[in-house]
Amino acid sequence: MTGNKTDKKKKTIKTIRINVDKCNGCRACEVICSAFHAAPKYSSNNPARSRIRIIREPLRDLYVPVYAGEYTVAECAGRDKYTIDGKEYDECAFCRASCPSRDEFKEPDSGLPLKCDMCEGEEEPLCVKWCMHDALILEEREEEVDEAEEQEEQEEMEIGLEALTDKYGIEKIMDIVARMSEKDQNV
Ligand code: SF4
Ligand code: SF4
Repeated sequence: MTGNKTDKKKKTIKTIRINVDKCNGCRACEVICSAFHAAPKYSSNNPARSRIRIIREPLRDLYVPVYAGEYTVAECAGRDKYTIDGKEYDECAFCRASCPSRDEFKEPDSGLPLKCDMCEGEEEPLCVKWCMHDALILEEREEEVDEAEEQEEQEEMEIGLEALTDKYGIEKIMDIVARMSEKDQNV
């Protein structure tokens, strides 16, 4: 394989399909996610650190799992209002982004953004494994990607990292990376 723009390679894309109707709001997914990402691993659990959060409306038997997505430096301009069964939800309620206008998907202590990493290193995402109600289903598909797209993704990651460094400072970022690698060594 060369650096030619037309080069293609196979990539396994993993996604988690959410079946809202099967979720009963037990929050086992939040517990295991936060425990898995604790330092040292499994030393504590705090749903505020989870990369999946459940929007809960127990009185109406409505539970919606939302995964942490990309970090964004700026608040978005166009926000959508959601109306479900006649109830209006906050414009940001189902948003996956860690963004400056709210505390969701941020580490409680440092304020650093959280993002679902599909439980890197695990065979199966733990929230999927721990969901006893089949509300979360892992799906895998093979996709052909070209190297130009991969390059673009890499550039996007670099822009994201640059934005984080601008916001939090290189020392804080280095500190969190050091903590993460320490966490891996403690496993
Ligand atoms: S573990 Fe499954 S059923 Fe329980 S809150 Fe999470 S998604 Fe819903
Ligand atoms: S896949 Fe892993 S990191 Fe992502 S929300 Fe589920 S438990 Fe958390």
